[in-house]
Amino acid sequence: MAQSAGPEIERLIALLSKLPGMGPRSARRATLALLKRKDQLLVPLAQAMAEAADRVRACSICGALDTRDPCAVCADPERDPALICVVEEAGALWAMERAGAFRGRYHVLGGLLSALDGVGPEALRIQGLVDRARSGGVSEVILALPATVDGQTTAHYLSDRLAGTGVSVTSLARGVPVGGELDWLDDGTIAQALRARRPA
Ligand SMILES: [Zn+2]
Repeated sequence: MAQSAGPEIERLIALLSKLPGMGPRSARRATLALLKRKDQLLVPLAQAMAEAADRVRACSICGALDTRDPCAVCADPERDPALICVVEEAGALWAMERAGAFRGRYHVLGGLLSALDGVGPEALRIQGLVDRARSGGVSEVILALPATVDGQTTAHYLSDRLAGTGVSVTSLARGVPVGGELDWLDDGTIAQALRARRPA
């Protein structure tokens, strides 16, 4: 591909185009916007990214992303430790928090089981979830996983793994569109799906 800008700018475009939802065309537009607003946008963004790269870690208890470990939710004494909501990625946790309908704690799997992509249980934070369920003080594990094949495969697997722990395992009700990711849902739908959860 012929380079239309200098190598530094091309590199920025190439990196931005790897972000979800970004193709080469939108990456070029974003790059141009950043370069045109250097002081208001490019420099603060670069600083925020460097700070995030330096300080953000996965919580050693739940896997959420935060600058402290345990994360803000795990460290919050107001949150009910008896309820654990299991999500695929931190984005779903953020969606649940935006909805403001859940006062328990979380467990971020870091992905879904997938035969097609070769993702097995050991690649996800599953043992940690089972350990938390076994440790006592947990009464319910709520599976808030996508209604996709991989999401449902993962939900079945987790139900089996949690069967002997004595906790009740429930799933979010689905007013949720098939294939729906939690991030895309409005807060009211999430709250309703949480209230109408059923045994998994
Ligand atoms: Zn945590």
